[in-house]
Amino acid sequence: MARYTGPSCRQCRAEGAKLFLKGERCFTNKCPVAKKASPPGKDPRYRQRKISDYGLQLREKQKLKRMYGLLEKQFKLFFDEAERLPGKTGENLITRLERRLDNTVYRMHFASSRKQARQIVSHGHVFVNGKRVTIPSFIVKENDEVVIQESSKKMHTIKESLKEYSRSGVYPWLQIDPDAMKGTVKAYPRKADVNELAEINEQLIVELYSR
Ligand code: SF4
Repeated sequence: MARYTGPSCRQCRAEGAKLFLKGERCFTNKCPVAKKASPPGKDPRYRQRKISDYGLQLREKQKLKRMYGLLEKQFKLFFDEAERLPGKTGENLITRLERRLDNTVYRMHFASSRKQARQIVSHGHVFVNGKRVTIPSFIVKENDEVVIQESSKKMHTIKESLKEYSRSGVYPWLQIDPDAMKGTVKAYPRKADVNELAEINEQLIVELYSR
């Protein structure tokens, strides 16, 4: 499936926000956004532009879309599904994005970024409830068990990523057994459970697609 393959940090600089695309580096002072790097491109008027309401809505959508590594068509499909569910569309959208298998593998610390998690899933290293799943957009449900397949448990990237577990612990909707490299989805994730999403205003995205 098509996806953005350019430099990750460029996307954050374009949005002027941390999108957490590079794993551990995003939490260090090497992050260009933390160092207040200028947006890509050299036009000094860029920062002085007055942004319209539409522009703000568009930027918010771009941020969330880039954060989860989706293209427009895939993102819109997620939005349409979120709209069909009972409850607030914006919150449904975030919950649904968080329930993607690649994101779940990332949140379980089996990968240091969503990009790496997508590769781990699509290369067949992940089992859900005892079955191999190679579709990164697979949506996990409550009580689903996500396991790294036996022969992949020696993979350096997975072992390295799991070190993050001992530093930052586990998200409240997940349960992880780092030694067995398996995790369980205990509940549906909410925006309030994820600090990275604190700056996202999902209502602006709802307004954008309601135009
Ligand atoms: Fe790069 Fe991560 Fe900082 Fe984004 S948040 S600019 S991906 S280091």
